[in-house]
Amino acid sequence: MKPQRLIPLKYFIPAHSPYRPFNLTCPVCEHSSSFSEHMRLNTSNGCVYLWAYQCQDCGKKRNSDEVQENGVTVALQEPCDCGGQFRRDRNIFCPNCHYRKSKENCRSEKLTVTKEEMEQINQRNGTEEMTLPFGKSEEFEWVVDSAN
Ligand SMILES: [Zn+2]
Ligand SMILES: [Zn+2]
Repeated sequence: MKPQRLIPLKYFIPAHSPYRPFNLTCPVCEHSSSFSEHMRLNTSNGCVYLWAYQCQDCGKKRNSDEVQENGVTVALQEPCDCGGQFRRDRNIFCPNCHYRKSKENCRSEKLTVTKEEMEQINQRNGTEEMTLPFGKSEEFEWVVDSAN
């Protein structure tokens, strides 16, 4: 019999401050990873903010100070070594086995969002259920959270 799990919720990088990181210990491969919105570096020229992204193909993390002029930056122009796109506006997935990765994890021409759209992403964090099926979903039997 497959182990029962509640349908996972979506989590987004910008909703997690460095003081409240999203710690994902993968229930499939047991890999641990931690995601938070930014890192602050103190340099001789002052503070530098590095924003966190995840490659939507291989799952690798990258920090970048890249900022687009016309909105809140959610994707990097430079691709990952694997050719994938780094984004921070999509559901976080396991970088090791891709558990929690879904069709949503793909590239888009859209590199920025408005402040209001970023607000919406933060509100969806931990409140919106993932749509089945997604990667590795065959490992578990999914049950609906009866508390909702
Ligand atoms: Zn990649
Ligand atoms: Zn995993």
